[in-house]
Amino acid sequence: MNAINPSVKPAPERAPSYYSATLNFETDYPTLQGNVTVDVAIIGGGFTGIATAVELAERGLKVAVVETNKIGWGASGRNGGQVTGSLSGDEAMRKQMRNTLGSEVDDFIWHLRWRGHEIIKNRVAKYGIQCDLKHGHLHAAMKPSHMDELKASYDEAVRRGMGDDVTLLDADGVRAQLGSNLYCGAIKNMRNMHLHPLNLCIGEAKAAESLGALIFEHSEVLDIVHGPRPAVVTAGGRIEAKQVLLAGDVYHKLERKKLKGLIFPAMGGIVTTEPLGQLAREINPQDLAVYDCRFVLDYYRLTADGRLLFGGGANYSGRDSRDIAGELRPCIERTFPQLKGVRIDFQWSCAMGIVMNRIPQLGKLSSNVWYCQGYSGHGVATTHIMGEIMAKAITGDLEQFDTFAACKHIKVPLGDQLGNPMLAAGMWYYQMMEKLR
Ligand SMILES: Cc1cc2nc3c(=O)[nH]c(=O)nc-3n(C[C@H](O)[C@H](O)[C@H](O)COP(=O)(O)OP(=O)(O)OC[C@H]3O[C@@H](n4cnc5c(N)ncnc54)[C@H](O)[C@@H]3O)c2cc1C
Repeated sequence: MNAINPSVKPAPERAPSYYSATLNFETDYPTLQGNVTVDVAIIGGGFTGIATAVELAERGLKVAVVETNKIGWGASGRNGGQVTGSLSGDEAMRKQMRNTLGSEVDDFIWHLRWRGHEIIKNRVAKYGIQCDLKHGHLHAAMKPSHMDELKASYDEAVRRGMGDDVTLLDADGVRAQLGSNLYCGAIKNMRNMHLHPLNLCIGEAKAAESLGALIFEHSEVLDIVHGPRPAVVTAGGRIEAKQVLLAGDVYHKLERKKLKGLIFPAMGGIVTTEPLGQLAREINPQDLAVYDCRFVLDYYRLTADGRLLFGGGANYSGRDSRDIAGELRPCIERTFPQLKGVRIDFQWSCAMGIVMNRIPQLGKLSSNVWYCQGYSGHGVATTHIMGEIMAKAITGDLEQFDTFAACKHIKVPLGDQLGNPMLAAGMWYYQMMEKLR
């Protein structure tokens, strides 16, 4: 169980989160110095970079991961820990991918939805990663119109043979699972999972290292050199490779000419309460992860030591909130009035990369330099799916990569100035439409 272990000291640059306070171990990878040669150099030590590194190392390639801060420093080590089958942008994907996949598009998206779960489950078991992996989600309706979409998802799951994993609940059914009167129904999905994302990320990095991958921390990539033998350059060193993958999501400022205006930061905040003891079992006896059906949603779950970890809202201006606990406390108390006045022990925030049409962006910057980014708040499973797709592409199997790379994305002119205001306006529009539903 991941509980606070005073003997593990998180690095000062990590966010003051419940996750950093409950690290299994702190990473201590060297800074890149001098010249290194590998098959694949990966920029970014989040799930995208690390999951791809594991996949490539398992296929026998020599890999190096280069990270500006610490492994799992970004969204991968600070998120809600919910492993959902809801791919972001699935409707847009369905429309665009029909051009390449024809009638197979629905099957393609359905199987993709659950691929990340399999990869994570297998990896956790194979490498013995301690990350509090548990099954069970409630996708909860806050008003009757939400039930229509839940019913449609439920029907599809049953039609596709997942009937044993899903149950459609009415308001009384939800109250039997959760100590809250807020919801009028839900889907209970036992295939979905939740976990401690930072311990998963550092555990996967250790797995990659055990397979021969080189990992560098405190090593910001300042430039990518293109050519027959591409390279990544930091202040102290250079890695020459046959191929390079840029996996810095919304945190990097590389390759602006091609990538500017494609992805924008939204800030998400999360808090964790004090340990709740018996109250934890009263509010969430089945230890389920919960998220609601709104466009800007609340999501929560219990931690292994019985705290409520609660996230919600998002700031689409791209600026950080100064009082995350002040913003989220009313949401917690509305959901669970029994927690009125509960102590908040941790609060933190992080940027997530939002893409206008919500489809993950995969592409090439030159013949042997690739990028993969943009999961719009649904990245825990999706990064692992993309890690597999990128590893396949880099080793010559381009089928799934090409399907994603063929999707069209909106590139906002003057992206750094106009992107976030456009995103905020779009979100305002969707929230208004939602109020009318
Ligand atoms: C508050 C919050 C809650 C979320 N909750 C969920 C959830 O419950 N479920 C879910 O599925 N998804 C969730 N997400 C989304 C998910 O966390 C992300 O989509 C996912 O972690 C992105 O992974 P990544 O590896 O692409 O990016 P990151 O984890 O952000 O990693 C990118 C890394 O690249 C490094 N980097 C950037 N530039 C350079 C450079 N030039 N040189 C070297 N390194 C560089 C950064 O330092 C960073 O560590 C949440 C996100 C946030 C912010």
